[in-house]
Amino acid sequence: MDLRYNEEDERFREEAAKWMADNLRGDFECLRGAHMPGGPEDMIEERRAWECVMGEAGWIGIGLPKSVGGRDLPLQQQVIFYEEYARANGPHRIGHVGEGLAAPTIAFFGTDEQKKRFLPGILSGKDIWCQGYSEPNAGSDLANVQTRAVRDGDEYVINGQKVWTSGADWSDWTFIVCSTDPEVRPKHKGISYLLVPMDQPGVTTVPIVQITKECEFSETFFTDARTSVDNRIGEENGGWKVSMGTLSFERGASTLGQQLAFAQELEKILEAARENGAAKDPIQRQKLADSYLKLRIMRFNAMRALDGIDGGELDPVQMVTKLYWANWHRDLGELAMEVLGTASDLLNQDGKHDYDINEFQKIFLFSRSETIYAGSNEIQRNIIGERALGLPREPRP
Ligand SMILES: Cc1cc2nc3c(=O)[nH]c(=O)nc-3n(C[C@H](O)[C@H](O)[C@H](O)COP(=O)(O)OP(=O)(O)OC[C@H]3O[C@@H](n4cnc5c(N)ncnc54)[C@H](O)[C@@H]3O)c2cc1C
Repeated sequence: MDLRYNEEDERFREEAAKWMADNLRGDFECLRGAHMPGGPEDMIEERRAWECVMGEAGWIGIGLPKSVGGRDLPLQQQVIFYEEYARANGPHRIGHVGEGLAAPTIAFFGTDEQKKRFLPGILSGKDIWCQGYSEPNAGSDLANVQTRAVRDGDEYVINGQKVWTSGADWSDWTFIVCSTDPEVRPKHKGISYLLVPMDQPGVTTVPIVQITKECEFSETFFTDARTSVDNRIGEENGGWKVSMGTLSFERGASTLGQQLAFAQELEKILEAARENGAAKDPIQRQKLADSYLKLRIMRFNAMRALDGIDGGELDPVQMVTKLYWANWHRDLGELAMEVLGTASDLLNQDGKHDYDINEFQKIFLFSRSETIYAGSNEIQRNIIGERALGLPREPRP
């Protein structure tokens, strides 16, 4: 593919940059640079309103086909939009699970009725979604989900527990992977994929506090929760394929444009290194240069990878992308701590563990989780080994 931008792309960049400058102001100024919610400055109402402003202007689902309400923009322009979003310091998107995971899944696997029913709410920014996959005993081994859905007329009755559900506290809908036939073997043949409204008595969420002191994710409990049979994507017991399709979107398009945010972080670390003298240290200079080079490689690889997304199979370049960026970012966090030196210490002077964390410490702490979610490092390596390199399969339980 041609990675250069043409004149039309550059015009589009100006349009995107102007839109951000014109809109991320006034009532939304408070959201500039706002990271993931889950702390005292949640600003959920402002973030919801921001999603609607983006939706109204047609900036949600820009890569989806026009036939389902998207803009079918070429990949380069999608990257440009996300870059300009990051350059303007746009807030963490509470709509990203809906836009990046639910919408493409529904567009790819849903019926026409489901597309009509769910996509407008996502693309207008009105409906916020969360992902109900993981459970206490089903993370990497997703097929082991114990949450049960049992048919009751035109509805499913759902009982069970999900965990690490990002954004569950402020979501309107969740898509869950659940068991509809616990006896069948292999287990993934008894799994269904359901869209479930969060606002009902049978669904409760309990926030989990993270080491960064935020709580962006929750435990989610289903106690006789209900959803219509019409809200099942794919066949009953045929949800495995759909759930894998969602993951291929998660490992791909939702990371688009992230590199510009990474580049901004690296720039701040470089600035700190220049200020405190760390940049004069030959070893740290080398590490900073290395980080920059790897970031450039990441950008080109991401664009090559995203060129081939079709919601079904991952191609080999896509398989490397998640592993690459997650480890690069984790290493960046470690490098930031080295650059800060003793100033990276989290303990208060009086030795209490009641700490405040700065931006660099947050990168260091949060980036550990990036090597876990959306497929841990080990799982990514298994995928590369088995599916890209054709090595023998890992023994399965
Ligand atoms: C910040 C964050 C946000 C998240 N948000 C969501 C969300 O919104 N919705 C959701 O459903 N989930 C979410 N998750 C959960 C995430 O998907 C799981 O943590 C992940 O799938 C790993 O599952 P687990 O935690 O159960 O670990 P396990 O699967 O128990 O893994 C434990 C360790 O064993 C290794 N391991 C497991 N199986 C193998 C194998 N076959 N071969 C080699 N090594 C193996 C893993 O790599 C890991 O090191 C989130 C997680 C984080 C950290």
